[in-house]
Amino acid sequence: MFLAGAECPFTCSFCDLWRWTLDGPTPVGAIPVQLARALEPLARPLPERLKLYNASNFFDARAVPREDLPRIAELARPFAAVTVESHASTIGPATLELKTLVSGRLEVAVGLETIHPVAMEHLNKRLALARFDSAAEFLAGHDIDLRAFVLLGLPYVPVQESIAWTIRSVEYAVARGAKRVAIIPVRSGNGELERLQALGAFVPPTLAQLEDALVQCSAIASAAVTADLWDVDRLPACEVCRPQRIARIRAMNLRSGPWLPASSSCSACA
Ligand code: SF4
Ligand SMILES: [Zn+2]
Repeated sequence: MFLAGAECPFTCSFCDLWRWTLDGPTPVGAIPVQLARALEPLARPLPERLKLYNASNFFDARAVPREDLPRIAELARPFAAVTVESHASTIGPATLELKTLVSGRLEVAVGLETIHPVAMEHLNKRLALARFDSAAEFLAGHDIDLRAFVLLGLPYVPVQESIAWTIRSVEYAVARGAKRVAIIPVRSGNGELERLQALGAFVPPTLAQLEDALVQCSAIASAAVTADLWDVDRLPACEVCRPQRIARIRAMNLRSGPWLPASSSCSACA
């Protein structure tokens, strides 16, 4: 469920979620009303998991008023699991409150993005690894699942090292308890990345790199690693093998293992 609410106070250089937010704080009651309206027409049986994405941090009271948590939990009751998104810094008492209220299993999705030291600085995410670690520890200590987001194709990471840094970052998240990790190719479109691209500091990741990163993560047994296919048609790719690569990534995303063998090489882009 994509919910409209207050804008995120962080200003990560790669993020364009502010386009889907309100100008001021989320009015009390607005999130439950949106959720109720969106759930109502859904066909039964409902899926097992409800994901609530509000283009910000779920535990920021400006984005999701605390007084709305009981009603949100009530609406989420038919689901066996509930996922919300949060910056590591806003995980805390409100997270525990939601955990107490929801009847299903709670999972919090946190953007680790990368562990590359230079790229991290330039992301402007204001997230030190120690903060991610303590958030992961907090969630594990309260029996809350951790999902992590890791980026592919970051500015300031040399292209030839791009996949390796993504894999290292996925491994880092998994080592701290992430049960699911989504690899997200960095997408331009917010102005800043276009500026960096013009300066030569950003090369958009390709579909082939995304597939490669996903295949290489297949060795990680303790977590489900997936590749984010949002706007996949915008990723640079060879037009001959594009459909085959997308189909293969989709298949890999959906199966828990064993993984498919490597793509047959494409004569057009090999
Ligand atoms: S913390 Fe998340 S929502 Fe906020 S600007 Fe960064 S990526 Fe976007
Ligand atoms: Zn090709």
